[in-house]
Amino acid sequence: MNKQALAHQPKVGIVSLGCPKALVDSERIITKLRADGYALSPDYAGADIVVVNTCGFLDSARNESLDAIGEAMNENGKVLVTGCMGATPELIREKFPNVLGITGPHQYEAVVSAVHEHAPIEKNRFVDLVPEAGLKLTPRHYAYLKISEGCNNRCSFCIIPQLRGDLVSRPLGEVMLEAERLVKSGVKELLVISQDTSAYGQDLKYAESRWKEKEYRTKFYDLCEAMGELDAWVRMHYVYPYPHVDDVIPMMQDGKILPYLDIPFQHASPEVLKKMRRPGKIEKTAERIHKWRDMCPDITLRSTFIVGFPGETDADFELLLDWLDDVQLDRVGCFQYEPVSGAPSNDLDNHVPDEVKEERWHRFMAKQQEISSLKMQAKIGTTQDCIIDGMDAETNRIIARSKADAPEIDGNVFITECSKPVTAGDIIQVRITDADDYDLYGIVQ
Ligand code: SF4
Repeated sequence: MNKQALAHQPKVGIVSLGCPKALVDSERIITKLRADGYALSPDYAGADIVVVNTCGFLDSARNESLDAIGEAMNENGKVLVTGCMGATPELIREKFPNVLGITGPHQYEAVVSAVHEHAPIEKNRFVDLVPEAGLKLTPRHYAYLKISEGCNNRCSFCIIPQLRGDLVSRPLGEVMLEAERLVKSGVKELLVISQDTSAYGQDLKYAESRWKEKEYRTKFYDLCEAMGELDAWVRMHYVYPYPHVDDVIPMMQDGKILPYLDIPFQHASPEVLKKMRRPGKIEKTAERIHKWRDMCPDITLRSTFIVGFPGETDADFELLLDWLDDVQLDRVGCFQYEPVSGAPSNDLDNHVPDEVKEERWHRFMAKQQEISSLKMQAKIGTTQDCIIDGMDAETNRIIARSKADAPEIDGNVFITECSKPVTAGDIIQVRITDADDYDLYGIVQ
């Protein structure tokens, strides 16, 4: 390699905040920049320019984004801001009038041309081309696959449709080509994401799309079917419990896609759900969860909830705890309600005092901990297929995950004894020997 030729290769630093969807956006930006010949800088000092991909979902996320912009301005000074907060540029300009440019979510091309403008690159034929699958910020063996942008729902606590617009789905063939490329490049686990995965294709009227000489509808069911053809674990996130979700459970039981559903239920009280403007009848949902478990006993259900939503009464909250007892979800996250600027829920009556939110949150978490602990204990003595994530240097244990664990948000399986060499991305059988409230421990014989 001609070192001289690389001497003027500008370096871009990227700070990526927010959800996996924002991470995918960052990956697209750096993929394009690398393809154009830019290098990445792991620190501010070495960067010719810094891109901050912001999150604007909650007020706390906005503050975090503003802090990140401030840090980049202090440490480097040449800063471009993109992402959800870019939809309100006046808030950014007010605090940081000297940022070089601001673009909204998904404006990859605008970010890339702003980088070209402020840190120009000389054409260089010695610079490596981007790998076929693009560059990823996640470890090599798993990847997020975004199937659509935006959302047609109008949940009262959420401003994502204001920021990102209505649902725009990618045709199934296009999604599958990306999935296939990722698997060919070594990805072993695909995490399917969107704002509302079960609504996939509604905007396209489920138009047919060709992949591998076969016509599929751009629809959740067909996507699961096509992804089941890939040699990879496929995990479905942000699925709403519309009736057609029942049809994919047999594919989970047959091992085509992982027996795992991430469904953000948010609450169980019909009154609160109505105020949240969430779809679905919760009594029916409980019935269906029991039916899913009959059809696929190993299914893992993950969800998130909000406690202390405006108007949530003691009775609503008790109903939620009883519902948790009934449906026995496997993995659960819980947030205390936080008003988001611009969200219609701010105008609802009867906001719940902070100390009540706090108390409900603790009671909710204690309930779920009890459920999770029993579920973990029940796995002792079983053998689980696990994917290796890496090594914990401090404890000398191998960090892995079972089919029930999504990376970063669920638990881990810590392997304390292993009779063979393993590397990240290997899928091996682990005998579970111990458990705590959220994690498992096991050995490989
Ligand atoms: S489903 Fe509701 S919470 Fe999720 S992005 Fe759409 S509007 Fe927001």
